Amino acid sequence: MTLEEIKAIEAKVLLQTYERNPLLFVSGEGVHLIDDKGQWYLDLLSGIGVNALGYGHTAIEKAIAEQSRKLIHISNLFFHEGQAELALRLRKISGLDRAFFCNSGTEAWEAALKLARAHAGLLRNEGRHVGTKFLAVENSFHGRTMGSVATTHKAKYREPFDPVMPGVEFVAFNDVEDLKAKFSTDVCGVLIEAIQGEGGIRPVSREFIAVARELTRETGALLVCDEIQAGLGRTGKWFAYQHYDLRPDVVTVAKPLAGGLPLGVMLCTEEAARAIHPGMHGTTFGGGPLACAVAIAVIDTIEKEHLLDHVTAVGTYFHGKLNLLAEKHPAIVDVRGMGLMLAAELDSAELAKQVAAVMLERRIIINRTSDTVLRFLPPFTLGEGDVDKAIDALDSILTAHAPEPAGAAPDGGKQIV
Ligand SMILES: *Cc1c(COP(=O)(O)O)cnc(C)c1O
Repeated sequence: MTLEEIKAIEAKVLLQTYERNPLLFVSGEGVHLIDDKGQWYLDLLSGIGVNALGYGHTAIEKAIAEQSRKLIHISNLFFHEGQAELALRLRKISGLDRAFFCNSGTEAWEAALKLARAHAGLLRNEGRHVGTKFLAVENSFHGRTMGSVATTHKAKYREPFDPVMPGVEFVAFNDVEDLKAKFSTDVCGVLIEAIQGEGGIRPVSREFIAVARELTRETGALLVCDEIQAGLGRTGKWFAYQHYDLRPDVVTVAKPLAGGLPLGVMLCTEEAARAIHPGMHGTTFGGGPLACAVAIAVIDTIEKEHLLDHVTAVGTYFHGKLNLLAEKHPAIVDVRGMGLMLAAELDSAELAKQVAAVMLERRIIINRTSDTVLRFLPPFTLGEGDVDKAIDALDSILTAHAPEPAGAAPDGGKQIV
């Protein structure tokens, strides 16, 4: 089928949830995607932070081939090797004790919310007062299911589906006084992304997350960190919270975990895990042999290829180049992020939209989030040459879009490609 044929059929038969870019990709290699016409695209988005090892990585292909010949699914009624092996690796890199495997980010987040409620119930049974309320942060994004969406800040994601899960209050981002004012023994969980992803690549302040850690420790409420986008090496450490020298009680991971196969995990402390007994929670597909085998291969590859160091080095290089670009182009009002989770915020939503579109015409894939923010979530294997190519393209696009100097021809600045 051609792109036009697929478009026409999808318009009739799919629920219209997405506004796709009019491109048909058929394969990938390294940090590049290849379309139906054989054209190569530099991918600085990696399937929204999923394809951390890029495309066609032999470790992933090998794990899929070998495991798919043995066993793809068995259900959680029986043992297989994958969950134990993967949980041991996750424990080592996260410092958290136990894992619950599921199939997506939002499902890991639902598990975290249920755990926080169950844990508060356990503490109440033990004679402590911990309520059922959640504190989430403004501009948060935690997923699309009913519980996750209730803790997601943007009204457009929540309100069409009201009533969503009650008992969620939002705290102003990095506002310690607001956090202290809203926190009480009524709260069972404080929900934080160490670096907000969809919210515009905004790192939480050291003080805000430290205060959240302290307040929850005092009452027994859980500090829950959403690492679905930032986790598993994207920021140059295994987890973004590790930049803040603290241990959350609960951590969710998903996007890059299984090299493109759906897999999520909720990690938690021994203390939090006391709240869950057999039969309370579960999933049919979660933590299947195939997804686990690939996730083990992903973690082993990140270690073997020293990709955390690589992410830090290339991320620092990329960040520096974006800073230089910001000095030259006043339209860039902020550059931020960690490792290969980076953003350049522009002074207008219209400009950000145009820049992303022209980058795509030049066959470089980036993404716009929170209206004005250009987001970069490339594969961890990105090279400095790839960064240079993207920066050069951004430079010439922003130059073409710069406001015209006084006296210039009326449409002198509109030449964009
Ligand atoms: C993508 C994302 C989610 C939701 O994950 P899905 O797999 O799409 O359900 C939740 N939290 C964060 C921080 C994310 O980036």
